[in-house]
Amino acid sequence: MNQKSGHRIVVLSGPSGSGKTTLVRRLIECAPVRLIKSVSATTRPPRPGEIHGDDYWFLSPEEFRQRLSEDKFIEHAEVFASGFLYGTLWSELDRAWEQAGWAFLEIDVQGALKVVQQYPDAVTIFVRTPSSQEFERRLRARGTESEEVIQRRLATAATELQLADRYKYVVVNDQLETAVSEICAILKAEEMARNA
Ligand code: 5GP
Repeated sequence: MNQKSGHRIVVLSGPSGSGKTTLVRRLIECAPVRLIKSVSATTRPPRPGEIHGDDYWFLSPEEFRQRLSEDKFIEHAEVFASGFLYGTLWSELDRAWEQAGWAFLEIDVQGALKVVQQYPDAVTIFVRTPSSQEFERRLRARGTESEEVIQRRLATAATELQLADRYKYVVVNDQLETAVSEICAILKAEEMARNA
């Protein structure tokens, strides 16, 4: 497949608590281009309600390592120093490209940088909250994490924010629908540039 028709990748990153999950759902509903969400593999156990093959491919550490040794991942990383591995499978990109869509990756900063090394044309979008105070407020409002996890996520977010300028676009998720419109406009422009 050539660059023009085939290798469309959009990577979205941002700290948890930046409203990424809702944003991703809305974008899949209403983006002006065909977005095919890449389902990552992870060794993290499923949370209640999460479905294998839909939210993630939930793998044992052995299964994950096996796929690593077979070069099945475009990138992988240990996220949040949690001990859990996450990775994007080449098969997920192929699935998107076979449908003439954009492979839509919602992955962390380490993963995003690795994808860009291989696909410099990837559209990278960093989603951030208006301020670090607001980010902390949202994280605490979810009420799902222990203080230790919150502190770790705040530290990760601060480090990630320093890397935001490595992304092609930075979108502030203050009002959800404004952020959705901004990203839709970015995708439309990128699609047009590729079709030109
Ligand atoms: P969670 O465990 O809350 O679902 O996700 C934790 C973090 O893992 C999120 O920040 C998400 O961006 C990141 N993540 C999810 N899938 C991947 C992946 O395939 N590769 C990388 N590098 N990070 C991922």
